[in-house]
Amino acid sequence: MAAIFYKEMMVINVLTTKIETFNNLIDGEWQESVSHKTFNSVNPANKAEIVGVFQASNEQDVRLAIEAAQKAFPAWSQTAPSKRAAILNQAASILEQNAAKVAEELTREEGKHIDDAKNEVLRSAQTLRFYAVEGQTFTGETFPNDDPNMKVSTEREPLGVVSVITPWNFPLSIPARKIAPALITGNTVVFKPSSDTPLIAFRLVEALYQAGIPKGVINFVTGKASDVGDLLVTHSAVRAVTFTGSTSAGEDIHRKASFTTRTQMELGGKNPLIVMQDADLDLAASLAVNGGFSITGQACTGTSRVIVLKEVKEAFVQKLIEKTSALKIGNGFEKGVKIGPLANEKQFNNVLKYIQYGKEDGATLAFGGNALTDAEYQKGYFVQPAIFTNVNPDSRIAKEEIFGPVIAVIEVDTYEEAIAIANDVEYGLSASIVTNNLKVANQFTKDIQAGTVKVNRTTTGNLMNAPFGGLKKSSTSTFRESGRVGLEFFTQLKTVYIGY
Ligand code: NAD
Repeated sequence: MAAIFYKEMMVINVLTTKIETFNNLIDGEWQESVSHKTFNSVNPANKAEIVGVFQASNEQDVRLAIEAAQKAFPAWSQTAPSKRAAILNQAASILEQNAAKVAEELTREEGKHIDDAKNEVLRSAQTLRFYAVEGQTFTGETFPNDDPNMKVSTEREPLGVVSVITPWNFPLSIPARKIAPALITGNTVVFKPSSDTPLIAFRLVEALYQAGIPKGVINFVTGKASDVGDLLVTHSAVRAVTFTGSTSAGEDIHRKASFTTRTQMELGGKNPLIVMQDADLDLAASLAVNGGFSITGQACTGTSRVIVLKEVKEAFVQKLIEKTSALKIGNGFEKGVKIGPLANEKQFNNVLKYIQYGKEDGATLAFGGNALTDAEYQKGYFVQPAIFTNVNPDSRIAKEEIFGPVIAVIEVDTYEEAIAIANDVEYGLSASIVTNNLKVANQFTKDIQAGTVKVNRTTTGNLMNAPFGGLKKSSTSTFRESGRVGLEFFTQLKTVYIGY
């Protein structure tokens, strides 16, 4: 049955209008939801276009998926690490071989430019390869002790069933950086992607399936958080929940998870870029534009506040507007487009709501901020990037996550004032400063409350081999994702004393 399913999948041509239905993967079988209900994934650049039809799962599907993962755990946890690694490497090869097609699907489903989509596909494949290597040398320690006839060491063991819950903005790379470390360390997975990007999530699971992952080791369940979210978190067999999404959902999950369920929450941000008096203003404006408007401002590490010293504010804002007005807005398949659609209707309405708040709270809308409704734009969720100046640091656009192409420029008199404002939000994900003064740069790395701190770089972007996570309400601040430390969350330590 699975083979037939795959044969059917192979004939998908994304350019045809044929709409495919995609199933859940439970216990190695591609299955419809027990409810037989489905939902559509649509193209945010053209709302009339259905990208795929997916299973509207319910708790019964989740229960079956968790039970399958539970059943598969003993054998998978005992599988040789090199065999687990071979599956990740093979899945990476499959993604690489299909990179052009998957990138095209990513652009159709999420809206980001095709070049960004290709980068994401290739980076996700690299992430699988990275953990295939790192996971094979991730181990415990041996401790010196006074007894010559005793060895004391720690062993790292997998946890068991892990729920993976992910957002739509990096629909492949975020799942890859959670699923790869979970699998290589011997855990089994139930994966629920965002309902805005289930096709891209499906492609990752499909690659693992085609790579020969044993049945039940990865299970895939699509559907609404309100239908499937609770059980993914509260089922007694779930030993860990790794989640990326909004702070409100993360708080909800963290509250519901039991005492014995580990949680890793990567949440919202309100990331500042500080522009000092000595900054290269051309660089500063480019960093603000790239950090604030790339992937249409829908990055958790996106620059949403620029805190600028008053001496250079006018000149900086002029450059910022110049660079922003040169950005081409449109469908992610068009050459030269820098700003695609917002990913869904909720995002579209939310961004427009915050632009309205900015106006109501007395900030100056110095550029953009209109919904685009002419010609092709009316088909999708297109909004001009917005730049607000004279922003009150206590106003909503200065404090709350917008998650869209809106930059609030806040003028300050001193570095101390800039830091106080930068830190006076509930988030602490990423922050950057533009300066040529090494002393100030160094002081900034100490003063700023953020999990990712940069100097003369965009607030966005992180290496796959370096830790990633936030402070304050941006993360549970317990375990970091990404890099070698990303493996820690998925293992528990046992301390072993052996007397000879
Ligand atoms: P979201 O919180 O609405 O949804 C994220 C995922 O969680 C989806 O799969 C959703 O179905 C599920 N979900 C939502 N509520 C749930 C609940 N109560 N229980 C279980 N599952 C639930 O977020 P989104 O709109 O998909 O993504 C945007 C948010 O993600 C922004 O706040 C952004 O900052 C954040 N984000 C954070 C990072 C990071 O690494 N810190 C990265 C990307 C996005």
